[in-house]
Amino acid sequence: MKTVHHWIGGKAVEGASGTFGPVTDPATGERTTRVAFVSVEEVDAAVAAAKDAFATWATSSLAARTAVLFRYRALLDGHREEIARLITAEHGKVHSDALGEVARGLEIVELACGITTQLKGELSSQVSSGVDVASIRQPLGVVAGITPFNFPAMVPMWMFPVAIACGNTFVLKPSEKDPSAAFLLAELAAEAGLPAGVLNVVNGDKVAVDRLLEHPDVAAVSFVGSTPIARHIHTVATAHGKRVQALGGAKNHMLVLPDADLDAAADAAVSAAYGSAGERCMAISAVVAVGATGDELVRKIVDRAVKIKIGPGDDPASEMGPLITKAHRDKVASYVEGAAGQGAQVVLDGTGFTVEGHENGHWLGLSLLDHVGTDMDAYRDEIFGPVLCVLRADTYEDGLALINGSPWGNGTAIFTRDGGAARRFQLEVHAGMVGVNVPIPVPVGYHSFGGWKDSLFGDLHIYGNDGVRFYTRGKVVTTRWPDPSDGGVDLGFPSHK
Ligand code: NAD
Repeated sequence: MKTVHHWIGGKAVEGASGTFGPVTDPATGERTTRVAFVSVEEVDAAVAAAKDAFATWATSSLAARTAVLFRYRALLDGHREEIARLITAEHGKVHSDALGEVARGLEIVELACGITTQLKGELSSQVSSGVDVASIRQPLGVVAGITPFNFPAMVPMWMFPVAIACGNTFVLKPSEKDPSAAFLLAELAAEAGLPAGVLNVVNGDKVAVDRLLEHPDVAAVSFVGSTPIARHIHTVATAHGKRVQALGGAKNHMLVLPDADLDAAADAAVSAAYGSAGERCMAISAVVAVGATGDELVRKIVDRAVKIKIGPGDDPASEMGPLITKAHRDKVASYVEGAAGQGAQVVLDGTGFTVEGHENGHWLGLSLLDHVGTDMDAYRDEIFGPVLCVLRADTYEDGLALINGSPWGNGTAIFTRDGGAARRFQLEVHAGMVGVNVPIPVPVGYHSFGGWKDSLFGDLHIYGNDGVRFYTRGKVVTTRWPDPSDGGVDLGFPSHK
């Protein structure tokens, strides 16, 4: 059985703790790999390697840093297939979706290649006679990243390329459920010439995370995962004096107004709800149908959903793969099983679905729940599976109030032909990312990604300009080169002349 170890100080380091976690192929239910769980001492060794590397990496020229990143970009480009295959083998998502994940991660590496334009700083010349003021941004030191299972390559790439381009060194703790892709990302970075210790990977669970949160040499923590853990990370790491951005879970709503193109809305709802088996933090999990659109929209969603081909992610015919673990599959199924008892109409029930020849895979078919109420479990919890809830609202205002009543505020979308309504929605909805006739509005790399409310703890979004601000701190330098004729003691507060 394959073992995934750690990457510390520029090389693979065998786990010494003697503790391992299982990695399963979700399409077969077989344990294919084990992942070493790091000890506190091994986390300390990774942070020490990153601290050592910081001294030279932070002072290396921008040209030297970006040269490595350009080589890294080329290597990643050449390994798209290999990275995507690792994602599919451990996460289960279909190959085309895994390739899409790699492409979106590469976008951030490309952003990091152009970091020179984002680190230019500002200069005000002659603010007073002979005095100039410059604002510069400098790296923080060792920063840590903790990432979820659902984007095992892309989410780490939301973090470390920007952090290291800014001159920091990095310790990544990927999800223990699908760790192989992140390990390959670190190996390729070394092949691109990234100096030893600049990017380290430690595998494991809470032991590893808790040590990173309290380690005195970790300056900042980026986290992406579920809301309860995001809240924990933010609370503990800030109490230890660290800068933190902790992105949490979501329940993303799609508001469909009566004037919307219902075919386009149904296409979007099916793609965004069931893509990657609903295991996306930007998945649409609640459609809010306004006015009389509901019944026709549900019919159109059903027409499309029943045609989706579910199967192993490495089968090119498959459009949707299995869920990450058996336990998660069962938890998702329980929401569908309990929905009718709480008053929802179960239009599609995917709980009995299986794939012939792969009976031990973590399969679920597509489920569609209609007439869902805001008090039902299927609405109140983040299900994170192929279950779409449809809610009804009488007016735009009712639909908006429903969405704004959610504790989460990651992404949301409006489907309409009315520009005025769309504009109102952009301004009035309480969410960090808004789509207008776009169901999954994940921002491109040069904008930033982040939610509101329980979807983000901390104030800076990830990547884009916010990413650069997060991974750097400001310094303002006031300079004067006095003329030999100037001089004299002056105890007054400096004023401008
Ligand atoms: P998770 O919160 O269970 O795990 C995320 C990371 O935290 C993993 O590395 C895990 O090892 C670690 N972890 C888990 N329990 C911990 C604990 N008690 N103490 C310390 N560390 C712990 O999330 P997941 O199941 O891997 O991923 C799915 C979740 O991530 C969903 O809620 C999804 O919405 C969210 N997510 C959010 C975004 C976003 O951008 N907002 C993006 C992707 C995923």
